[in-house]
Amino acid sequence: MQEDLKTIRDLELKGRATFIRVDFNVPLDTDQDPITVTDTNRIEEAIPTIRYAMDQGAKVVLASHLGRPKGNRNPKFSLQPVAAELARILQKDVPLTDECVGDGIEMMVKSMKEGELLLLENLRFYKEETENNEHFCNQLARLTDVYINDAFGTSHRKHASTYGLPSLMSKKGVGFLIEKEIRYLDPLLHSPAKPFYTILGGAKVSDKIKSIESLLRHVDGILVGGAMAYAFYEAQGRELPEGAKKPAPEDVIAAKSILQYTKKREIEVLLPVDTVDSFDIGPKSIEVFQKKLQNAKTIFWNGPLGWFEKPEYAKATRAIAQFLSQIEAVKIVGGGDSVAAIRSMGLGEKFDHLSTGGGAVLEYLEKGKLPGIEILKQKPSQRTQPYLVPEEVD
Ligand code: ADP
Ligand code: MG
Repeated sequence: MQEDLKTIRDLELKGRATFIRVDFNVPLDTDQDPITVTDTNRIEEAIPTIRYAMDQGAKVVLASHLGRPKGNRNPKFSLQPVAAELARILQKDVPLTDECVGDGIEMMVKSMKEGELLLLENLRFYKEETENNEHFCNQLARLTDVYINDAFGTSHRKHASTYGLPSLMSKKGVGFLIEKEIRYLDPLLHSPAKPFYTILGGAKVSDKIKSIESLLRHVDGILVGGAMAYAFYEAQGRELPEGAKKPAPEDVIAAKSILQYTKKREIEVLLPVDTVDSFDIGPKSIEVFQKKLQNAKTIFWNGPLGWFEKPEYAKATRAIAQFLSQIEAVKIVGGGDSVAAIRSMGLGEKFDHLSTGGGAVLEYLEKGKLPGIEILKQKPSQRTQPYLVPEEVD
């Protein structure tokens, strides 16, 4: 673990009101009445941290955003369906508040007993959340004594709940989910077991170029599939397969710059040798990729190898995922669609780590840090108002 970063295990929680920023930004079926959660994965992933805090005797205040209500109190984005799921999983009452700040909430938190839970309503019902509004941060800071961030996927944002609030707190750290993200992602940037291969797919190279460049410092080779491969074809002056969409100029420029770097450093770049209707990499390419990957000690995979949402073009993504399931290597997947693809194939358990962050994982790989984690290492700036329950502060 990073030296100056505390984890939830390092903090005394007993009897303390503890704010846990979780990622409950789950997909919903809004046509149902009541609205239901269609994928509970994010809720389940937050459970170990929540359970631990409850078992330690904390008064647990959970907070998350959900969707983009843009500062409006839109009932479609209420965390009510999440509260229901949480109550089901934990077999415990999960009261949902109407507000996130103010006297009413402060009194509610004050009257909580050890091991009890409270879920604040959607943080983004307040425009102050994304604005990182100072007054709002101060109001949030009045609620609890301890701050835990376990929302990796939003840790690249400087929002009130991920940045302004923890900047005011002194007792703070990460939960188990972020701890695991760091444990698996850090070595990719510093000391991956070698050989280390990166599989790249999906659509846009230019969106990902900075994180690719930083991975290139340690990789022995990159294997490129998906629509991204065509930017590399074009960069090499090769003809595109029939039906392939012409890559955007900025993607070709990004591919050129990666090819230059890899040539200089003698890093191998494997491109597909055949495709299926240009929407998936073909059987020969799958074979070539598997051959290369069989001796790998570390593999980082970002981006599906084809248009996997269509079963006829999911073959390569599935074949490579199945192949990786069987080899001995540290296997890490980052990227919203790649993780969804592997989960939908039922292969999630076979990987060492499926990152919970999309944009966050790319930024972490690019910079080696995220604002929402860095702020947990810093001493607090002055609180304008003291924490509400002074008798509980040591
Ligand atoms: P991630 O979310 O894992 O970072 P991206 O968002 O970059 O991945 O890309 C995922 C999308 O790219 C998926 O919707 C997938 O269908 C699409 N895709 C991948 N390869 C192709 C292809 N050859 N043709 C069309 N779409 C593709
Ligand atoms: Mg995506």
